Amino acid sequence: MHELAICDAILKRVDRIVKEERLEGVNSVTLEIGTLSGVVPAFMTDCWQAVIDGTPYAETALLITTEPGVAECLDCGAQFTADPEKLVCPKCGGGTLNPLTGTDLTIAEINAY
Ligand SMILES: [Zn+2]
Repeated sequence: MHELAICDAILKRVDRIVKEERLEGVNSVTLEIGTLSGVVPAFMTDCWQAVIDGTPYAETALLITTEPGVAECLDCGAQFTADPEKLVCPKCGGGTLNPLTGTDLTIAEINAY
């Protein structure tokens, strides 16, 4: 599962930062997820619980903000904020879309102590 691998990678990155900065622990990690990244925020929260279980980060909360993705229709050239549930062009109904923004997943903030 895609989200599980991503959560695992995020946890490793957080762990590395904690060790490098000699921090004691992490209250929360904030992710920014583009709506066209293919990552489902609700799955991320579940997978995060699975990867932190039994680690020093078992109490670390995963906070998620989403960035609306903009797509371009390759049939008519229209640009619009894409609805990830319904990926069709609102102007011509075409389904061949090219995502312009909102395809990334980034760690926006690590709240450590
Ligand atoms: Zn179109």
